[in-house]
Amino acid sequence: MAHAVQLALSFDVDQETLSLRDGKTSPALLAQGEYGSRAGLPRILKFLERHAIPASFYIPGVSALLHPDDVRAIAAAGHEVGLHGWIHERTSNLAEADERELTHRAADVLHKLAGKPPVGLRTASWDFSDATLQIVREMGLLYDSSLMADDDPYELISDGKPTGIVELPPATFEKSYQ
Ligand SMILES: [Zn+2]
Repeated sequence: MAHAVQLALSFDVDQETLSLRDGKTSPALLAQGEYGSRAGLPRILKFLERHAIPASFYIPGVSALLHPDDVRAIAAAGHEVGLHGWIHERTSNLAEADERELTHRAADVLHKLAGKPPVGLRTASWDFSDATLQIVREMGLLYDSSLMADDDPYELISDGKPTGIVELPPATFEKSYQ
């Protein structure tokens, strides 16, 4: 008996943003972030190309500005480029206006580099604030990938009403990761 398996591969391209967000600029920490651009991403892109697998890459705006050729390479290979905050900020710590401003700013950077606007968001550290859904709707995004209420995709409900926004739950086993 044959079994069909559906699988979605996605990658968060955080690079140096985790250190820079906290104002940490030691060469050691920045080098760990740079590894993603120098060694990690090329390896992943090569693997995906060899097996003809399309994937989604969630990229903070600052990561995209530091490594614009990475974003271009991801888009040129036919992969999706999605939102992942501005500098991997802790979304719940932001005022709504600031979250909105940073999300739009990140979308503009990704749009310019990838050649098309992002249609999906994975909040940094899966930190989905009280304002995030409203911002997702205002921007006309098709889906979010931060919440983990199920194993399978589900529709986000707001005030008891369907939103048309699809939730693609990311892995739950890393919930403690910040
Ligand atoms: Zn991340």
